[in-house]
Amino acid sequence: MQLPTELFVNGAWRHSAGGKAITLINPATEERIAEVAGAGLPDVNEAVESAHRAFVAGWRDLAPGKRTEVMFNVARLLRENLEWLAQLECQNIGKPISDARDEVGLGARVFEYYAGGITRFYGQTIPVARGGFDYTLRTPMGVVAAIVPWNFPFPIACWKVAPALAVGNCVALKPASLSPLTALALGKLAHEAGLPAGVLQVLPGSGQAIGDALVTHPLIRKISFTGSTAVGSRIMELAARDLKRVSLELGGKSPNIVFADSDWERAAETSPMSVFANTGQDCCARSRLFVERPIYEPFVERFVAATRKLAVGDPAKAETQIGPLVSAGQREVVEACLAGARAQGRTVAVGGERPCGKGYYLAPAVLLGVETADVCWREEIFGPVVCVRPFDDEAAMIQEVNASPYGLSGSLWTNDLRRALRVARQIESGVLSVNSHSSVHVEAPFGGFKQSGLGRDLGMNAMEGYTEVKNVYVAE
Ligand code: NAD
Repeated sequence: MQLPTELFVNGAWRHSAGGKAITLINPATEERIAEVAGAGLPDVNEAVESAHRAFVAGWRDLAPGKRTEVMFNVARLLRENLEWLAQLECQNIGKPISDARDEVGLGARVFEYYAGGITRFYGQTIPVARGGFDYTLRTPMGVVAAIVPWNFPFPIACWKVAPALAVGNCVALKPASLSPLTALALGKLAHEAGLPAGVLQVLPGSGQAIGDALVTHPLIRKISFTGSTAVGSRIMELAARDLKRVSLELGGKSPNIVFADSDWERAAETSPMSVFANTGQDCCARSRLFVERPIYEPFVERFVAATRKLAVGDPAKAETQIGPLVSAGQREVVEACLAGARAQGRTVAVGGERPCGKGYYLAPAVLLGVETADVCWREEIFGPVVCVRPFDDEAAMIQEVNASPYGLSGSLWTNDLRRALRVARQIESGVLSVNSHSSVHVEAPFGGFKQSGLGRDLGMNAMEGYTEVKNVYVAE
């Protein structure tokens, strides 16, 4: 199938009106893939205004059963086009093809979940003191701007677009300029599945060029953003002027805590992928590894050995676990961080080198001897680097975990149930897994505490986030 290279507006491909074209490079080969149209300001205005028309003209008022049907159709078309979408993602950002296939499947499941949720999402009847009949309605907001990052372009687009559409909103989706292909394909397939023209608009373009215009457009009622904390904070400032609704999924510096009483051998075997999956470009990456002192040395030995075994290489091969970083610039940022750690005398137990000739590859790196003040311990690196430190005392360890301004995700390994409950309660994060590294469940809320975000994606919480509650009182 053809590469999608134009804007998708009003149910059709469209040339950009004044935007700058985006050159896409395959990070595994450093070769040019395509030139994609970048939206300009007239495109933003046209897309938002016509999305508003589509909202008023019928999507918000469509019978819930009809919306359900369309959403299930979208899911079906996504599944039928799974291989195409996965190949697009693999080429565009160097995502290992097996992960890309899983992520397209996840996107389809998200559409199915919210398709089924439409007729299960309702208000209340309230026995108000003065009598009469009081009930609440969940009403859609209007046009939602969904702004998504480049690390999980397809699933994150789906988990914003699907619940927003399910409750009757229209959406202007802005993919990151590095990763527009699957978002454009989603717009086209959703339209083919029966989504009326204008209900989902897709506007590739750089955040600098069109971000402000999209966020401040008077017809945008909500901004649902996933990306860096710095940009999230700017969006919140801009949105505050008109009290627009925002939900923000931001950065992380998540802990992986391994107690000596746990099945720590299993933790050591599975933990490399908890931080190095997606080449560490993961907001949930467990990049701070806390290991209880009595098992520290044998744990590190196993963990380093498991890291060495990871299959780093061509993302098009089914067996590849770790592909390249998304861009030359992203690899330089990670290398600078490693150079800083080395200059401070920290030990790189494994990794950190460029393993292949072409492509933005970097071998997963394990840093030891790191101090709490180190940049690599405190800041999100967004690359394949983990810092491992021993701990002696549970309370002091929790204090250190919570010292981070982030609070997105984390893992906790212990076989002591009381400890699991106690520590899970005290960790400041929106998502936590015990004896597992699983962070994302379509049916459960996902989001961060503190500077990791505001609001929740996924689960029924996301549907709430795309509606206003209206209370209606009827006198008797
Ligand atoms: P980014 O903040 O640079 O960009 C994210 C999106 O915002 C892109 O579409 C970008 O074009 C757009 N953007 C940039 N400037 C903008 C502006 N001024 N106004 C409006 N939009 C603007 O982030 P990124 O580099 O694409 O992604 C990496 C970051 O995303 C990391 O910090 C990572 O932790 C975070 N992330 C968080 C989650 C989560 O669910 N919490 C998931 C994935 C990624």
